[in-house]
Amino acid sequence: MRIDVVTIFPEYLAPLDLSLIGKARAGGLLDVGVHDLRAWTHDVHRTVDDTPYGGGPGMVMRPEPWGEALDALVPGPASSGPRSEATRAERAGSRGQSERSEPAGRVPEGGVRLVVPTPAGEVFTQAMAHELAAESWLIFACGRYEGIDQRVLDHAATRMPVTEVSLGDYVLFGGEVAVLVMCEAIVRLLPGVLGNADSLAEESHTQGVLEAPVYTKPPEWRGHPVPEILRSGDHGRIARWRRDQALLRTAQRRPDLLATLDPGTLDKRDVAL
Ligand code: SAM
Repeated sequence: MRIDVVTIFPEYLAPLDLSLIGKARAGGLLDVGVHDLRAWTHDVHRTVDDTPYGGGPGMVMRPEPWGEALDALVPGPASSGPRSEATRAERAGSRGQSERSEPAGRVPEGGVRLVVPTPAGEVFTQAMAHELAAESWLIFACGRYEGIDQRVLDHAATRMPVTEVSLGDYVLFGGEVAVLVMCEAIVRLLPGVLGNADSLAEESHTQGVLEAPVYTKPPEWRGHPVPEILRSGDHGRIARWRRDQALLRTAQRRPDLLATLDPGTLDKRDVAL
């Protein structure tokens, strides 16, 4: 998979070099490009924002740098696949506007998807992480201030799928942290990234319920013992205990999830609970 992130704070994305995402990059499972939006400005102050039409507080991100950035990353149908070479902006240095992109055209289906974090978007879920993990190339556009001029999204949508995504019902300073969250959730689903792919099967939100509590050694810590059943070696009973705990936890903490659970996934004991 190829991931490009456009931001005015490239350094915010440094964690994409670390831990399992960094390992996936080093192992060739993932190719990441982080781009400074200001590379596509043309004034001495490298301005990316202006006052909002219609008045009101704050500033809005201007469309021109965004348009040029997307044109440079996705020049036309011919370059619709993931690339591992440096982008035009990177090759041209921090002021990438010196090299102009070709006119942009519609990208063929399956080429690239633009993901725009915004509190006004569809709420990010594990299901959406799976959907995005199936793409071969994602471009994330990090908003700041009051957000990005709507025309950037409207124009991009004439060329490629555009998905506006919210992390939840709260407001962050900018899209960078939202991108880091999404990248973690997406990249860990890519084949080969997790050492043990079984970890994905039982975890919270995969089967519509929260995961049961987990324990490791020592068997007793500060007066708190590990539940006896987990030390019994009886795999059938352990699996049943975990399922019960998962359902009880979900009922207590997230009854909204239980309400949407597919009845076909429940057995008799689940129903009795
Ligand atoms: N004026 C915008 C609104 O009320 O919808 C909020 C802008 S916010 C201060 C600046 C940027 O932070 C947004 O453009 C977006 O990129 C990011 N952001 C803030 N909250 C977010 C959330 N809950 N989910 C995803 N991105 C968020």
